[in-house]
Amino acid sequence: MLLSRFPRVSLAHLPTPLELMPRLSEHLGGPNIYVKRDDCTGLGTGGNKTRKLEFLMADAVANNADVIITQGAVQSNHARQTVAAACKMGMECELVFEKRVEDPSDPYINSGNVLLDRIFGAHIRDVEKGTDMDAAMEDVAEELRSAGKTPYIIPGGGSNRIGALGYVDCALELMSQANSEGIVIDHVVHATGSAGTQAGLIVGLKATNANIPLLGIGVNAPKDVQEEKVYKLAVETAEYVGAAGVVQREDIVANCDYVGEGYGIPTKAMNDAVMLLARLEGLLFDPVYSGKGLAGMIDLIGKGYFAGARDIVFIHTGGVAGLFGYSDQLHTGS
Ligand SMILES: *Cc1c(COP(=O)(O)O)cnc(C)c1O
Repeated sequence: MLLSRFPRVSLAHLPTPLELMPRLSEHLGGPNIYVKRDDCTGLGTGGNKTRKLEFLMADAVANNADVIITQGAVQSNHARQTVAAACKMGMECELVFEKRVEDPSDPYINSGNVLLDRIFGAHIRDVEKGTDMDAAMEDVAEELRSAGKTPYIIPGGGSNRIGALGYVDCALELMSQANSEGIVIDHVVHATGSAGTQAGLIVGLKATNANIPLLGIGVNAPKDVQEEKVYKLAVETAEYVGAAGVVQREDIVANCDYVGEGYGIPTKAMNDAVMLLARLEGLLFDPVYSGKGLAGMIDLIGKGYFAGARDIVFIHTGGVAGLFGYSDQLHTGS
């Protein structure tokens, strides 16, 4: 497995720091909890999609693209990082937004990520909840082609085998940090959605025989659906990097007990986790993904899921801009 074989552009600040959260670890009574700061990838306020975009945008260049099309929810962190990448590469960007949240508030439709999308000059189209988003992006592509442009479609969350390479690379980066800093990682935990992060990480961990269990905390789909989605992409990604067969179905573990009422709908546990981390560690997490991921990790520590572990790593996938889109739905208690 040699990732330098794949075309890549530089968009992210790498390596991202791996930091101990001493006050959180103490508060929870162990294990040592480290945070891998993928919220600090740097592009347009950062986040996990930037690693994927390094490979996706290189593929767009190889395909002579002059306009990028992608899709997501209105407060999509992926869309925000994609339009920022398009700006940096001198391309235009079309965003197709699914109105996934019922009765959205004013901050949800005007602040947070969507404000940044507008600052980056995105062309935004809204479609109804339940729309076939791939078909909707294809319609936009057709329209752009007839206007003489060369569009490149990036799937939701940047989650295909090309984007997942970004998280194969993150797994290698994490191992190298653990090795040089003497951290014996017992578990890696992160929020999982469109699957590219978990798929890439598991390929990187398995292909190097790291022997570290990976746990995705779901924010959207039920467990069986989420695990199948990750597994399918992990198998494709492993083949793509020349490590076919390294991932088994049982390597894919998602816990989807912390979704609450649905995607993008705040939960009390998320709210509590966001406030706790802010006040103990001075760290910000997001309401849709990393906050729910943290809520899951904290609850599972209490339930003994990581019993016997000394060091665990939570990958902070970013999304902090989303806090502003949810400003009227977060309870700060102060
Ligand atoms: C997209 C996203 C995730 C989930 O990553 P996937 O690769 O889509 O599974 C997690 N956290 C944040 C903040 C995200 O924006």
